[in-house]
Amino acid sequence: MMHSNEGTEKIIDEEVQGTTLTLEENKDNSKKLYIESYGCQMNFSDSEIVASILAKEGFNTTQDMAEADLVLVNTCSIREKAELTVRKRLEKFNAVKKTNPGMKVGVLGCMAERLKSKFLEEEKIVDMVVGPDAYKDLPNLIQEIDEGRNAVNVILSKDETYGDVAPVRLNSNGVTAFVSITRGCDNMCTFCVVPFTRGRERSRDPQSILEEVNDLWERGFKEITLLGQNVDSYLWYGGGLKKDFEKATEMQKATSVNFAKLLEMTAMAQPKMRIRFSTSNPQDMTLDVIETMAKHRNICNYIHLPVQSGSNRILKAMNRLHTREEYFELIDNIKKIIPDCAISQDMITGFPTETEEDHQDTLSLMEYVKYDFGFMFAYSERPGTLAERKLDDDIPEETKKRRLRDIIDLQQKHSLYRTQQHMGQVEEVLIEGFSKKSDAHWMGRNSQNTVVVFPKENYKVGDFVNVKINECTSATLIGEAVGLSEYN
Ligand code: SAM
Repeated sequence: MMHSNEGTEKIIDEEVQGTTLTLEENKDNSKKLYIESYGCQMNFSDSEIVASILAKEGFNTTQDMAEADLVLVNTCSIREKAELTVRKRLEKFNAVKKTNPGMKVGVLGCMAERLKSKFLEEEKIVDMVVGPDAYKDLPNLIQEIDEGRNAVNVILSKDETYGDVAPVRLNSNGVTAFVSITRGCDNMCTFCVVPFTRGRERSRDPQSILEEVNDLWERGFKEITLLGQNVDSYLWYGGGLKKDFEKATEMQKATSVNFAKLLEMTAMAQPKMRIRFSTSNPQDMTLDVIETMAKHRNICNYIHLPVQSGSNRILKAMNRLHTREEYFELIDNIKKIIPDCAISQDMITGFPTETEEDHQDTLSLMEYVKYDFGFMFAYSERPGTLAERKLDDDIPEETKKRRLRDIIDLQQKHSLYRTQQHMGQVEEVLIEGFSKKSDAHWMGRNSQNTVVVFPKENYKVGDFVNVKINECTSATLIGEAVGLSEYN
């Protein structure tokens, strides 16, 4: 993966890939858990649920694999490279097991779901395989492996949202947090493995979402990101799959909550808390969401709006259910309603049959939108997807790479163009922590999700500070504080 804005990625952050998660020690717990996460933010969020479930089972977390009773790896299947990374880690676990023979190894997440019990045959080191909807079964599965048997649960659920599990915040900055609102995906993009590994789409009870947000506020958090594969498709009507909404009663339909409503409820529940959301699928994003964003100052002016390709022919082959023209209309509406709204993209180069003309369409779409930043990938064929079954992966690696280079270079240019627009402005920044490059500077983000660094003075983590922007790179704004924001 390449992206043009170090540190802004809320979906797949290369820097946090493989991060071990730790939580506060409970003195009564005697067993040690080492948990490592890969992939999208949803996986990191799931690991917080897993740690919460296991804290009740006598586990404290550790950063030292050599002393762990249980090693868990939460895996990603989105591209082949993600799976290869996990295979490499398993080799490392195997080496550690030689000095720590009592250690058990469990594989969680999308790769567990995709490979199921095949994992146990292929990777002799693995004792336990658990899919994304089966984490509540972990206590039973751990008992199985403790008794010397292998354990597998990869059953996908119609209604599991973990709404009743209070996630523990692992390695948190104490300022920003993710709140999961939907699970699974019904979109069936032909390149994507997610519908197979995370199951059908279901939404979480809004009441439990609001409780989690209120609790985060009470504990000092200042920003939340509502999280799902396709948040705009959120629909609560008392539980159940999104696809079964048609069968709901009139009463359920009348009292249902869609994403715009949920966004508004969240913004109003905590008017001083910054609200973000990710990811939006263009086909599901409606005007009422954009209008709700415009209405509430605490909803940030930033939309991650993956398009994947600028060619109508390729969009169709990908089963993205909108055209290039409809996408432009959406962009125009966003810019009309929220003129300073930042927009970012995900793009795939080298999807089967992609021609130079299709590639040029992608470049011209980017030229039209001039995204603030983006996350760009070469197509990776995934087993079981519709594209794998129906289409040849016929674009040579060099061509995929060259096209990827083209779009990254163009994105770089646009990112710089966008950051330059902030020069001279005074913008509200929420301080998240130290700048990576300088101890004398704070790092935070403006509403548009662009990283801002500025001298610390007497400000502290969690403050909303007005910062005058004096310099920029394509990824970062550099400024100086002019005072605390009135919204602290
Ligand atoms: N649900 C979101 C959506 O609909 O766009 C994001 C899903 S995915 C976790 C993040 C990104 O990975 C996608 O937007 C896409 O650009 C990329 N991706 C997914 N499958 C891929 C594949 N087979 N090869 C290359 N990139 C892929």
